[in-house]
Amino acid sequence: MARVRAYVGLGANVGDAAATLADAVRALAATPGLRLRGISRLYATAPVGVLDQPEFRNAVAALDMVVAPDASPEASASELLVVLKDIERAFGRRQRERWGPREVDLDLLVFGRHAISVERPDAGRSANPAKAALPLTVPHAEARHRLFVLAPLADLAPRLVPPGWDETVAGAADRQRAAEGEGAARAVATWSGDGWRPLG
Ligand code: ATP
Ligand code: MG
Ligand code: MG
Repeated sequence: MARVRAYVGLGANVGDAAATLADAVRALAATPGLRLRGISRLYATAPVGVLDQPEFRNAVAALDMVVAPDASPEASASELLVVLKDIERAFGRRQRERWGPREVDLDLLVFGRHAISVERPDAGRSANPAKAALPLTVPHAEARHRLFVLAPLADLAPRLVPPGWDETVAGAADRQRAAEGEGAARAVATWSGDGWRPLG
């Protein structure tokens, strides 16, 4: 079996977002075929686009995915997307029933050295009808333009140049921090192995 290093972006801004992201990290770690290799710091980030909504919490997870040697990158990445969407759905369902609305967004940022654009399996489809027709694109198309992705990704892989980029993750984070402002992404906690530990 081969292994592919994947980076997954996590975000939430409804309810106890930090707790939601911790649950999502545990769900990823418990998924067969995935091994958790690192968790970025937790960031408090300004909403982008729709400004009239609560601050976000964002983090990035480094995962190694076990893949069959003859599996195509497209098939393996699609498989991982289905895992991410299943976790989103499971959380949405549980949270709506028990503790009111909460949301979690899990995006596949980077999948090894592969540049991928492929129709998604139905199970990987977004609940958002406006986005349901989008192909799976990796590296994630917006990652380079979002400090809330770049800041946590730079904690884990500052020198990485994702396929199709002409700069490192750290370089992109610096550029985006200059554009968005220092306060747009603030580290507020570190991962302690089983949960977030607030930064003094
Ligand atoms: P954005 O992609 O701008 O971050 P979002 O995460 O809020 O938006 P979702 O409702 O999660 O949007 O849906 C994203 C849609 O895009 C899904 O249908 C998903 O299959 C597709 N998609 C394409 N590329 C990716 C990717 N790299 N990671 C996750 N979803 C992706
Ligand atoms: Mg997203
Ligand atoms: Mg998403």
